[in-house]
Amino acid sequence: MAPYVRVGVQGGTLFLGFGSIRRPVHDRALWEPLLRLADHFRTPRTRAEARSFLDGPCGVDAGRAEAVMRLLDDDNHLIPAHTYDPADRYSRHALFYELSGADAVKVQPRLARARVVLLGCGGIGSLVAAALATAGVGELVLVDADHVELSNLTRQFLFTEADIGLPKAEVLARELRRRNRNCRVLPVVRDIGDGADLEHLPAGDLVVVSADSPGLTGMVNAHCVRSGTPWLNACYVNDIAVWGPLVVPGVTGCWDCRPLTARAPEGEPELAGLMARVNGRYQAPSNGPVNMLASSLAALDALRYLGGFGTPAALNRRVGVWSHDLSLDEQKAERDPTCPTCAELVPVCEGV
Ligand SMILES: [Zn+2]
Repeated sequence: MAPYVRVGVQGGTLFLGFGSIRRPVHDRALWEPLLRLADHFRTPRTRAEARSFLDGPCGVDAGRAEAVMRLLDDDNHLIPAHTYDPADRYSRHALFYELSGADAVKVQPRLARARVVLLGCGGIGSLVAAALATAGVGELVLVDADHVELSNLTRQFLFTEADIGLPKAEVLARELRRRNRNCRVLPVVRDIGDGADLEHLPAGDLVVVSADSPGLTGMVNAHCVRSGTPWLNACYVNDIAVWGPLVVPGVTGCWDCRPLTARAPEGEPELAGLMARVNGRYQAPSNGPVNMLASSLAALDALRYLGGFGTPAALNRRVGVWSHDLSLDEQKAERDPTCPTCAELVPVCEGV
């Protein structure tokens, strides 16, 4: 039985498992055989051994024995004994993968083979990079032309006061290597000015965009759709933590399938000019915890996609968590067959 399965009674009901696998057991007659079997399962057993235990020492009838076995068989309560080795650095993540219904033994090699290109090493990119490197992603390409500034330290926690003035990509690479020597890290201290700059970067299994340069997301989307590279956006909109869409060319919608951000009015140059002047003085109120929220959710989706466990939450949608009241805001990003960017791609039917 998976070590993440706990039991408890609340309001007259026994619950098997907690979190998303919480299952109520209302039938009081099942409680004792279930708990005795769970106790028996504290050391690894086969299903046949478990059934013999129910039929023998427990002495329950066949109907109850089958009901108890069904309870344990559901919701990933039973996992292969060899998937959890407490001495392994990824052992707690392995339990998470099993909880998500995946074979943990297969997830970790998939992550080790993956290369992720991160455009932006600031408040979100640096934390996403830390989550991916420590989870065992094999290779990270860190792209950022900026240098560490004093006002970055409220949210870019891997940088220190001693790093002020140094290139963010290089400082981040140093910090990631300290945390996981097996992760190959390539810092690239460079701006992304146009599509040609993207062509010169190493190809990735996933591109994560957390830089806020004007027009960057559209440029990355065009490049990724053309090259068949999945990409994921993560950002904040003032106090809203935002991640998605996770664009998988040929499978999901892309950034251009429907408008995901406000734009200047077409055919009204005077209003567009005024808007440009108003927006020209914009300075984002960036906040550490909001950056952490966006980067956590984006990193989890990146790991789900690369490792093949669970289902990424940002497929075909862009999600925002309003930090002031924790409500969710969702923009649909499903595939538009008339999209100017991705309509000509042949649909890929396989799931992701
Ligand atoms: Zn599209």
